[in-house]
Amino acid sequence: MTTVDFKAEVEKRKDALLADLFSLLEINSERDDSQADSAHPFGPGPVKALHKFLEIADRDGYPTKNVDNYAGHFEFGEGDEVLGIFAHMDVVPAGNGWETDPYTPTIKDGRLYARGASDDKGPTTACYYGLKIIKELGLPTSKKVRFIVGTDEESGWGDMDYYFEHVGLAKPNFGFSPDAEFPIINGEKGNITEYLHFSGENTGAARLHSFTGGLRENMVPESATAVVSGDLTDLQGKLDAFVAEHKLRGEIQEKAGQYEVTIIGKSAHGAMPASGVNGATYLALFLSQFDFVGPAQDYLEVAGKILLNDHEGKALSVDYVDEKMGALSMNAGVFRFDEKSSDNTIALNFRYPKGTSPEKIKEALETLPVGKVTLSEHDQTPHYVPLEDPLVQTLLAVYEKQTGLKGHEQVIGGGTFGRLLERGVAYGAMFPDSIDTMHQANEFIALDDLFRAAAIYAEAIYELIK
Ligand SMILES: [Zn+2]
Repeated sequence: MTTVDFKAEVEKRKDALLADLFSLLEINSERDDSQADSAHPFGPGPVKALHKFLEIADRDGYPTKNVDNYAGHFEFGEGDEVLGIFAHMDVVPAGNGWETDPYTPTIKDGRLYARGASDDKGPTTACYYGLKIIKELGLPTSKKVRFIVGTDEESGWGDMDYYFEHVGLAKPNFGFSPDAEFPIINGEKGNITEYLHFSGENTGAARLHSFTGGLRENMVPESATAVVSGDLTDLQGKLDAFVAEHKLRGEIQEKAGQYEVTIIGKSAHGAMPASGVNGATYLALFLSQFDFVGPAQDYLEVAGKILLNDHEGKALSVDYVDEKMGALSMNAGVFRFDEKSSDNTIALNFRYPKGTSPEKIKEALETLPVGKVTLSEHDQTPHYVPLEDPLVQTLLAVYEKQTGLKGHEQVIGGGTFGRLLERGVAYGAMFPDSIDTMHQANEFIALDDLFRAAAIYAEAIYELIK
């Protein structure tokens, strides 16, 4: 590896780096569809931040290209192979609970507070300065760099769809996205939601009028509520015993001869269903002891006896483990049942490794007593760049050299711009000891982390394009 002292080179440029970063953070680049038009596809904020970024690149002498205000890039160097760097200028809404103004970047106790400080304007600027150091030192390079910034990473990735369709260039050969964490994310599981459908009408001794649980497919339902009536002997006594046995909370309210039964568990991210307690599946298990018939009985039996605590899909025989990417996970995320509806559903969100598929999962689900099974429109396929790939090897080696920490591969359930390229990964800028404040109030990046990351990016880019 090179003998350039990249940390010292970052040291010389700290003030300039911060000045550029401040100018980006001062722009509120939240998506705002109410002000969107053909010139501002995601509203004016993201466009303003994109212009500012390209203006900085232009100032520094790079050729730039703006693809209709969806995304833009600048290029450095020459060569047949192209390294792509993918970052983004949009931010999630600031929300409430801030101690400083989210769009007035503020340094306190060695931390830079602002919306976008850690996701993703801080890491983008650190990476930008990494490349700037290579340029200013005139280091010899043999490949081209295309540094691409999008404006819709936090919502639907409509920026990148448009960019690739209209930029008129082949995709970069390999690349990384400074939009996650070190040491690396070289694998991302597939993500699909499958819906179980049931009819509603039921006329047993016990009647299920409605069943509601869960807010989002990618969250474990904290609680669920059912409205029931009919033959429900000792409902309160049985609920008390049930919640005591399973360490849950529950309550019953009587309304005009009907009972509203609620069970409360614990929410968690849908990619980690075992960290939560699914209130809806427990409510279904509790109710399944009464004499429901027809679709109501099927609904409660499936939810309470098959889905309950089956975070890896074992009871459904959809479980699958890939040696590198780990196990499939299943979150029963949203429950909607109404006796008057002919289309009641349970939404199952799967994070799956390579080796299985949404179709295989669907086939297994169709053996359940359900009307039909349908798939969500979004389907993120599994993405994995092997540890042996020189891209992964180089990025981990630079990380190890500069931090003294051991590098290792990581597979996550979510999606980063790394998946835009077949040979694409996410790399930084959070360190293992960083506090994760992405998408939260009082988002910050520690200045030490910002500068450490810039030095790593400098050496990593140089090693990849020399
Ligand atoms: Zn991000």
